[in-house]
Amino acid sequence: MCKCMKLSEMGIGEHDRRPSRAIPLVACDICGQKGAQPIFEENGHSLVRCNHCGHFFVIPLPTEMTSGFALDGQSPPAIHKKNELSRLRIFDEYVRMVKRYISGGRWLDIGCGCGTLLATAKSNGFDAVGTEVDKRRLDYCQAASLPVIGEEITSKIFKAESFDVISLINVFSHLRCPSVTFEAITRILKSGGVILIATSECGKTAYKNEVTSWGIPGHLHFAGPKTFKMLAVRFSLNVFYVKRELSQKVILCEKLAYDSERPLIQGLKFIFRRFPRLTEFAPRIICLKRGYRHPRQEVVVILQKVCRQKAGLELIRGQ
Ligand SMILES: [Zn+2]
Repeated sequence: MCKCMKLSEMGIGEHDRRPSRAIPLVACDICGQKGAQPIFEENGHSLVRCNHCGHFFVIPLPTEMTSGFALDGQSPPAIHKKNELSRLRIFDEYVRMVKRYISGGRWLDIGCGCGTLLATAKSNGFDAVGTEVDKRRLDYCQAASLPVIGEEITSKIFKAESFDVISLINVFSHLRCPSVTFEAITRILKSGGVILIATSECGKTAYKNEVTSWGIPGHLHFAGPKTFKMLAVRFSLNVFYVKRELSQKVILCEKLAYDSERPLIQGLKFIFRRFPRLTEFAPRIICLKRGYRHPRQEVVVILQKVCRQKAGLELIRGQ
């Protein structure tokens, strides 16, 4: 029995209760330091926070990445495609964000799902290709004649400095070793090229009940406030752009996108759609009421690869 199982036996529930027994000294993949604080457990795995850089990661890792994906409940391609299409406005926004820095060129979408972002990038003038390791989604893309391959980018299938843009949309949390992936990304990214990342970010702690499921151990990493700054320094990147939104707001907006069969719920949705500012206030009230002092956020980050001599941190815009 792993030590994380002992946490439940000791009654460890939410964010700030500490088990009396130390967790194994596992090195943080972001900063390389040992020493982490247990936060909560899910599905027999523990979410811990690095004592040094504040990055959140899962221990123990699943024995194989495939087991993590299976537990995450990967939806069939037809349903996943429908979800992607409901987020088309967000994908359009991602492409617009990138075009502020790079007007065209080669775009690689890592973990491209059913290829909706890839198609959006193509329609905006980029020469876009994707990778997807889920066999069913890969088959779906290839049946749609999209240029998608089923290789990990760490396999060195791509030539050095061959992409202008590399995107990881809701992929970072699935990475087994982000540092290994970033090493591969910075190898195949051109100087001046950008990395677009969308993922979940925690504050000083995390709350198990804040979301229905954290998707652990399908999800293995959650950014902390310093995670991308640390990666930027380590891999000679500039932080170009950061946008954060409360996860509660993102969840609410996703729920509003679908009609409900229950009249009361549909009535509430009608009110929220009529008064969009409610989607700003309601999530904050939920967090206050539930005592989430450091609520989970959805973060979009754009990093730029620079020459080693010019490396450093340059936060141009943050929210
Ligand atoms: Zn760390």
